[in-house]
Amino acid sequence: MKDDNFLREMNGRHMWQPMGHPGEAQNSPPRIIKTAEGVRLSDIDGHSVVDAVGGLWCVNLGYSNDAVKQAISDQLWELPYYSAFAGTTNPAAIEAAYTVREFFAPDGMERVFFTSGGSDSVDTALRLARQYHRLRGEPTRTKFLSLKKGYHGTHWGGASVNGNNRFRIGYEPLLPGCFHLPAPYPYRNPFDESDPARLAEKIAAAMVDEIEFQDPSTIAAFIMEPILGAGGVIVPDASFMRHMREICDRYGILMISDEVICGFGRTGDWTGARHWGVQPDMMTIAKGVTSGYFPVGGVLVSGTVAEVFEGADASGAIWTGYTYSAHPVGAAAVVACLSETQRLDTKANAAARGTQLYEGVRRLAEKHDIIGDVRGGHGLMTGIEIVSDRAAKTPMDATTMQRIHAATYEAGAMVRLGAHNILMSPPLVISEAEIDVILAALDAGFSAV
Ligand code: PMP
Repeated sequence: MKDDNFLREMNGRHMWQPMGHPGEAQNSPPRIIKTAEGVRLSDIDGHSVVDAVGGLWCVNLGYSNDAVKQAISDQLWELPYYSAFAGTTNPAAIEAAYTVREFFAPDGMERVFFTSGGSDSVDTALRLARQYHRLRGEPTRTKFLSLKKGYHGTHWGGASVNGNNRFRIGYEPLLPGCFHLPAPYPYRNPFDESDPARLAEKIAAAMVDEIEFQDPSTIAAFIMEPILGAGGVIVPDASFMRHMREICDRYGILMISDEVICGFGRTGDWTGARHWGVQPDMMTIAKGVTSGYFPVGGVLVSGTVAEVFEGADASGAIWTGYTYSAHPVGAAAVVACLSETQRLDTKANAAARGTQLYEGVRRLAEKHDIIGDVRGGHGLMTGIEIVSDRAAKTPMDATTMQRIHAATYEAGAMVRLGAHNILMSPPLVISEAEIDVILAALDAGFSAV
């Protein structure tokens, strides 16, 4: 490993970072995170901060889970890689599939198709949705519906159903036949409706209208996050996902629940769909399935959808997949991570600490006028919308947001910015005292501006 000065000097010269401007790394260098322990990060400049982001909504078990680390290490010595394309597989992959299925059986999910991450999973689910309808004799069902403000990764399919235009406009034209409904976002929406339940009904009516306009026989699937993460932690009304399910059933449209963030306890239940009492037709997973220790994702398929593929002639073959699908090391990480997730009952801690974080931020809103909206209260996902004028709801400018971020970091917590929102998704094993550190750091961050 090169020394810290070398790292500082070389930074920005040779690496383009995801989701950032490649010209900026020289002038405003990123923090270089060197080590992590528990829920704390240490950078090469000597800061030690509580990670209120959980890596990227993924390090659910924190950074020090020995069981997962050991399982990864053991598997590397046993079998570091072999393909799981049809014809061969490996013991770890079989055990991972079994373990995942047990975990998701209450959601009606019977099969898992492993991928290397969330974007892979979303693209795979969209493909499987089209193929499902084709196999059932409805090849005209090719279109997709999704929500504005939804985030579904950056492959072409995911970007096409994505509901934030900064991930789209530089890369258009995207997939044709993708249509976006308004987000269940009571603070700002085209209906000017602040009541969450009434807003849910209005979006449901807009969905019916769009389906009728498109012609129901052209629509393959509807995809949504049970709680919208990257779009600002947008928490729909409890009725929302049930409305969407009912409409999908009425029109023969598959429902895909994107559980890449919500899955594995983050919402205070094991899956976001279960939290809202809904059984989707497919689910996409990643992140918490290995706590971020190894890149793994997956698509879960209900028994009803699976039957259509399994009972079909040669056209039921799945001609998509990845070199690292069901990677043995990733699979070993999945088995250990899910076992730890259940042993530690991380969903219970997520619910309790999530309420603490949400209530704490609401108290900060009484003190700081720049807080326009506080969202959360369902597990460890909290969003804070920052405004320069509370009455006019004017989004805060980017420079001030950077200042808040920097001051919060100096005061002891890493948070994440999403435009003028502060997004938080700490490890699910976080303690009460560590949540208090985050709250105190935010208080300092807001006071600084
Ligand atoms: N779906 C959701 C809901 C996500 O939050 C993300 C990533 N933040 C993705 C898909 C894409 O996952 P990945 O970055 O692993 O490709």
